[in-house]
Amino acid sequence: MTIEQPPIFREVGVEEAKQLRDAGYRVIDVREPVEWDEGHLPGATLIPLADVASRIESEVPDHDTPLLVHCLSGLRSARASAILNQLGYRTVVNLKAHLNDWRLAGGAWEEPTPLLSPEQRRRYSRQVLIPEVGQEGQRKLLDSKVLLIGAGGLGSPIALYLTASGVGTIGLVDDDVVDESNLQRQVLHSTDRVGMKKVDSAELTLRGLNPETRVIKHEERLGADNVERLIGDYDVIVDGTDNFDTRYVLNDAAVKLRKPVVHGSIYRWDGQVTTFIPFAGPCYRCMYPTQPPPELAPGCDVAGVLGVLPGIVGLLQANEVFKLLLGVGETLAGRLLLFDAAGTTFDEVRIWRDPGCPACGDGSTRPEASADAVAAAPAGPAR
Ligand SMILES: [Zn+2]
Repeated sequence: MTIEQPPIFREVGVEEAKQLRDAGYRVIDVREPVEWDEGHLPGATLIPLADVASRIESEVPDHDTPLLVHCLSGLRSARASAILNQLGYRTVVNLKAHLNDWRLAGGAWEEPTPLLSPEQRRRYSRQVLIPEVGQEGQRKLLDSKVLLIGAGGLGSPIALYLTASGVGTIGLVDDDVVDESNLQRQVLHSTDRVGMKKVDSAELTLRGLNPETRVIKHEERLGADNVERLIGDYDVIVDGTDNFDTRYVLNDAAVKLRKPVVHGSIYRWDGQVTTFIPFAGPCYRCMYPTQPPPELAPGCDVAGVLGVLPGIVGLLQANEVFKLLLGVGETLAGRLLLFDAAGTTFDEVRIWRDPGCPACGDGSTRPEASADAVAAAPAGPAR
């Protein structure tokens, strides 16, 4: 037979609790973190009931500190108060009232800082509903900076969808002007903008789509002299370049600065996508250690490109960017995705880090190129 000890802590209503708080009682909130996040007493210490016994000593070492304990209704906090008594805290007072009554009586209250404004909650509502995104994920996107190398065929769908989705900052590197022959696939631009700088045309389109996204125009050609400055400020780099020189320059700088690069390339009916995450997966040089001769990489103006192909490949790249920014899903790091538009088929080849890679290797000698990498000849242009 057990004899229940009567509680030796006091229980008070809202008015007295307000006075005790004003008098310097330390407020202990024993609710759960999700409840806390919806609002709490200013200056309170959150220790969920289950953790009270293990954490109170480190939070409040002095057993003479007067404690005002509360939860939502006064039940959990009564149990917490009994525990605190047993642990030797001499002045324990339980708020035996509902928190709503506390707030109605004008008790001090701190609203949570909203992650999203009401406008943002409306605009991104369909995306925020996805459990892996939520308001926190949307906040991440809004705080993210993505650099697109090229505002052409691949850059167009990528920029449009990242902007629509609420990526906060989009940088565009392009020194070209809109040409009539671009319009068949470069959907950022339009007929009335022929002759306009692509970065200006892109900015107009993106601003119309989502005024909240900041567009940073880099009207220059990416090269060895400016690459580190260009990519240094961004979280993710998207490669929509049209030549191999640029790809190697971008790769080496991205490895050095540890920036993930989402790679895409297109050629007539064929597209390739992969993601390079420095030191966590292979880099472009691991995949293609030597640069092919220029005649193997004819531009769109020579080889031609199917209008929808950059749309498909670009959106696969945008999807990679999303996963990188949100830290969810599985990226294409170490996998080269091959798309054949003519047959509507996807294939995948494994790509491995090369220990002898001059960019990301550890200096050991390079083994023979893997059969997979050889089979997947580099696709050429991308605009
Ligand atoms: Zn490498």
